[in-house]
Amino acid sequence: VESTYAMLKPDVASKKEVVAEIIKMINEAGLTVERKELCRLSKSLCKEFYAEHSERPFYNDLVDFMSSAPVLKLEVSGPDAIKTWRKLLGPTNSEKAKEEAPGSIRARFGTDGMRNAGHGSDSKESFAREYALMFKGGGFP
Ligand code: ATP
Repeated sequence: VESTYAMLKPDVASKKEVVAEIIKMINEAGLTVERKELCRLSKSLCKEFYAEHSERPFYNDLVDFMSSAPVLKLEVSGPDAIKTWRKLLGPTNSEKAKEEAPGSIRARFGTDGMRNAGHGSDSKESFAREYALMFKGGGFP
């Protein structure tokens, strides 16, 4: 059994009905939510979480967005959890997702290239880093 770090972003994390629908999609895909925490992230934690994008033009906007309101942190497990969750999310850009994968989470609940409803680890290594950062206080202060 594999685990992934899934996160609902500030555009959806506080919308109860959307969260319930996404958790239903997770369960219907054969996955289980092992851990769930609604939490407002500090700017410095968001900077570290997205450090690989620090040179990209959207980095500051992304950090501001991710720290603007609570996120819902999730540990999700099950067969092929990393790939299965990213498939449920759909393409990164929600506008593109609406064309290419209309049933996906980003198509249904996201808005654009940044406000795209959710995050998912892209590998086992990313999961280990992200889980430590988000659930074990592994960030810098
Ligand atoms: P995630 O890592 O969040 O699961 P991803 O791997 O599909 O998404 P990345 O390319 O790693 O996407 O980008 C990380 C996040 O940065 C995206 O989910 C999105 O919120 C934001 N982002 C990516 N590209 C852009 C862009 N061109 N403009 C604005 N924001 C962007």
